[in-house]
Amino acid sequence: MGIQKNLNDIKSILPEHVTLVAVSKTKPVSDLMEAYNAGQRFFGENKIQEMVDKYNTMPKDIEWHMIGHVQSNKVKYMASFVRLIHGVDNFKLLKEINKQALKYGRVIDCLLQIKIASEDSKFGMTPEDASEIIKSEAFSELKNIKIVGLMGMATFTDDENLVKKEFNYLKDTFENLKQIIKTHNFQLNTISMGMSGDYKLAIKCGSTMVRVGSSIFGTRSYH
Ligand SMILES: *Cc1c(COP(=O)(O)O)cnc(C)c1O
Repeated sequence: MGIQKNLNDIKSILPEHVTLVAVSKTKPVSDLMEAYNAGQRFFGENKIQEMVDKYNTMPKDIEWHMIGHVQSNKVKYMASFVRLIHGVDNFKLLKEINKQALKYGRVIDCLLQIKIASEDSKFGMTPEDASEIIKSEAFSELKNIKIVGLMGMATFTDDENLVKKEFNYLKDTFENLKQIIKTHNFQLNTISMGMSGDYKLAIKCGSTMVRVGSSIFGTRSYH
């Protein structure tokens, strides 16, 4: 398979300030190892159990990103090793991540997921929700998490103008929040937006981290 070639093709057009997260959900370890052997070190999974299984069998210099929706009661399984949690969309979840990170003496980096798509199916909070959380007393007490950026998922559509509008909205939200708030556990430097179908557009709109799956590993089949 052409995993190495796919990776090289994508990396050749990626600006230096953009991190490529290889989204390996549903793919076997052999595929991930092919990417690893081609130099890839950032992998994204959307199911905690699957990520834990892959973490246990793969080299330890990999940075694991949780990109899916996270249930609070499962945070404990990944708290010892997860590098970045992309989809934080409520305060209760942040509190749980903080509690589990404390057990390992870690500070876990998180992104707040902002709802940018007009589709109802996508998770995320409003910019107002985000700023309310960040300004709260309760948030300032969380010492074992750090919000380092925002994540968003655009509408699944061929309408480039709509997708562009949604990406710009996330970028604007990022700049606004960055200006109005600075605390010890809120230091924005990452905008996670862009997938196989729209990462080039996302980069033009200011993305610093793209989550690319099928363009690297091929289409997924769910059984
Ligand atoms: C699956 C997934 C991706 C990757 O999607 P592709 O279209 O295969 O690149 C990116 N982000 C999230 C949150 C995902 O669940």
